[in-house]
Parts: sequence; structure tokens; C-alpha cells
Amino acid sequence: MDFAFTKKEEAFRLEIRSWLEANLPQGWLDGTYKQPEIEEDRIQFLKDWQRKLHEGGLAAIAWPEQFGGRNATLMEEIVFQQEMARVKAPPLINYVGTHMVGPILMQFGTEQQKQEHIEKILTGETIWCQGYSEPNAGSDLSALQTRAVKQGDKWLINGQKIWTSFGHVADYCFLLARTSSVPEKKHKGITVFLVDMHQPGIEVVPIVSMNGEHDFNEVFFTDVVAYDHQIVGTIDEGWGVTMSLLMHERTGIGGQLFTLQQQFEDFVKMAKTTPSIIENPIVRQKMIELYAKTKGALFGYYKNLTKQLKQGYPGAESSMDKLMVAELTKELFAFIQSVQGPEAVLWKESAPHDTYWQNGFLTSFGMTIGGGTSEIQRNTIGERILGLPKDISREKAGNQVG
Ligand SMILES: Cc1cc2nc3c(=O)[nH]c(=O)nc-3n(C[C@H](O)[C@H](O)[C@H](O)COP(=O)(O)OP(=O)(O)OC[C@H]3O[C@@H](n4cnc5c(N)ncnc54)[C@H](O)[C@@H]3O)c2cc1C
Repeated sequence: MDFAFTKKEEAFRLEIRSWLEANLPQGWLDGTYKQPEIEEDRIQFLKDWQRKLHEGGLAAIAWPEQFGGRNATLMEEIVFQQEMARVKAPPLINYVGTHMVGPILMQFGTEQQKQEHIEKILTGETIWCQGYSEPNAGSDLSALQTRAVKQGDKWLINGQKIWTSFGHVADYCFLLARTSSVPEKKHKGITVFLVDMHQPGIEVVPIVSMNGEHDFNEVFFTDVVAYDHQIVGTIDEGWGVTMSLLMHERTGIGGQLFTLQQQFEDFVKMAKTTPSIIENPIVRQKMIELYAKTKGALFGYYKNLTKQLKQGYPGAESSMDKLMVAELTKELFAFIQSVQGPEAVLWKESAPHDTYWQNGFLTSFGMTIGGGTSEIQRNTIGERILGLPKDISREKAGNQVG
């Protein structure tokens, strides 16, 4: 594999770079931009950013042209992600839509579902959330208890989801519900619904993370309505669709390796200007170790992405990328915290370099949990890539995430 960029790819990089310069808000690139204080304004800013990306043809460059993408090659996708990470571009408020639900509808959706949703996902007209986890169903996702019962032409949905990222801004939820009570294997009898979030019976309760931000929620469903045309795949047989979406989620998280690489470079820059850090030989050894690990993870990601672009959908290798980026991010930020001394615990106004390092440290913990925990990724790698025997406790239980 040759990872040198051709003239055409470098031209594409310049195109992205100049688009970002023209479209990022004033002060973003020189670090003087201030996030809106009010949550509604912050949400509006992120929606506007999603719309701008769409108008620039950049909302989902790897998507096929027929669905509004630009059939990006592997190298273009890499260039794009590098440039976004370089400028620390604003987060994607419709991440679940563009990286998970859109590709799934292209693969499994009906013509009507594609027509109804795909373009609105790209423009950001509809924001999506993922209704998988429940208080007693996370790693063991097939233990989910939210139930959908058919009454006349309607499905009535009752139950609770938790850790629902973007639930407070979402227009639709990609929701798993139990539709059969046949006591066979637990992963049978699950159906995927595209649920309209703007209807009576939906209550969204915020959960505030330890960095003080509100990104995820509890969502309660009481007699919430869905119809047959909102089912993805087959009634009771939604497990395959469920797993496919998770693989897209994990590949997307793997893409955060570009962000990790940028964070590592920021650390090197900070260390070079701080004699007490850079003059310490143990610090320098650890920096080299982290450099080698992040480079290795990145090349693994390129390899897995090549396979995905060829076959059109991600495979179990997505667990390797997810595991690597989550664990390395945690390792990097824990290390940076440890070398900063007392400064590491300063927060908000009192922190000398804003809260970039502290915030990265606090959010790194969630990375080894969201999208399936590191332990579950290791199980998947062991069983599906290395061909090791199944975990006996899992076989007894039925099934689980991964
Ligand atoms: C930042 C973030 C965003 C999230 N966003 C969403 C979202 O949008 N939608 C959504 O549905 N969910 C979301 N989640 C939830 C996430 O998918 C679950 O938290 C995750 O799957 C783990 O489930 P759990 O929390 O129930 O932990 P549990 O499954 O109870 O696990 C507890 C511990 O036991 C370990 N464990 C469990 N089973 C095994 C096993 N078989 N082998 C070895 N170890 C095991 C786990 O690794 C973990 O350490 C999010 C979570 C985070 C942190």
C-alpha cells in the first residue's frame, strides 16, 4: 500500500483547506472564537455547520453520488479527515444520521425510506439519535425490554432508553424494540423502527457528563406510535440490521484516529515549549511509544477502510479500530495529565491553556464505553477475526453487542 498523496489528492486537500478557511466562523482558526453560552444557540450553530457542509458537498464524501455523496476514494477520505482534524472542525450534530443511519438505509432500507430520509440526513433537516442501550441492556443488548405491540395498523412502543446521544435535539430515533415474546434466543424477536421523536409519549431527560456538558439523555416511550413503513428489515429479524449499524458506528469512531494524531501533535508542541516536560527522558520515551502506537493504529485503520470501501460495508475489523482509538486516547490524555503537575486539575477560568487537556482527559473515559466497551471489542476480535472459541458465558446468555 502506498500512502504518498498524488497531485490530484493534494489538490483535493487544498480545496478542503480553502473551503474551511472560507466557511469556519470568524476566529475559529486563530483560537479566538467563543462557543455560544446558551445551549439553543450552540445547537443552532452546529445545525448551520451541518447545512454548510452539505452545501459545500462535504457532508458525507464517501457516500455514492446517487445519494448525494461524491464517491470519495480511500485517499480522499483520509485527506478529508486529516484536514477536519487539523482545524478541530466543529462536531457533527447529525453524526448518527450521516455515519450510521444513512449507510444502513442505503443497504437495508425500502425505496420509500431512502426517498424520505437520506437527503434530509445530509442537509441536517432531520437529526437522528440511536435508541439501543437500556438500563439493563448495554453490552448484552439482546436483553432489551422496550416493547412494540401491533394494534390495528399501528405499533405502540413502550419502554426506556438510556445514554441516547443527541436525543434532546433529534427528530428521529433508530430504535430497537422487542416485537415477539417467543422464548427462543434473545436476539430473535427484535425489530428496528424509525421513530418520529416529535409526538406525544416521548420524554427526554438530560444526563450531564462529568465535564459539565449535556450530550446524552434518558428517553422514555409511552404508547409512542410507529407504522409498518417505518420498520427497517423484517419484523422480529432486526438483529442483523442492528449489528450492521454498530459496525458503521465503530468504523466512524475509528476515524477519530485523525483527531488523536492531531492531539498527539498538539502535545508534542506543548511539551517542546515546556522545559520541565521535554527535558525529562521518561517523558520523551513515552512520547515515542505513543507516536509508534498511534501510527500503527492509523495504518491498521487505512487497511480496514480499504476493505470497507471495496466491499461497500464495514466488517468485524471495525472493532480493532474502535478499540485502538479509544484505548490510545485514554492513554495519551492520562499521560498528559500526569506530566502537567498541579496545572492538570485547573478548570475553566483558572486553567492557563483553556481546558483542552482536562476536557480531553474527562471525555476519554466515555470513548472506551460508547459504541461497545473495550472488553466487548476484544471478544469480537477474538471470536470473529482470530477464530477463538466463543465465551461460554455469552453462549449461555444468548447474544450481546459485538
Ligand atoms: C459517550 C457515550 C455515548 C453513548 N451513546 C449512546 C447512544 O447514542 N445510544 C445508545 O443506545 N447507547 C449509547 N451509549 C451507551 C453504550 O453503548 C453502553 O454504555 C455500552 O454498550 C455499555 O453498556 P452498559 O453501560 O450497560 O455497561 P455494561 O454492559 O453493564 O458493562 C459493564 C462492564 O462489564 C463489562 N462486560 C459486560 N459484558 C462483558 C463480557 N461479556 N465480557 C467482558 N466484559 C463484559 C463491560 O465491558 C463493562 O466494563 C453511549 C455511551 C457513552 C459512554
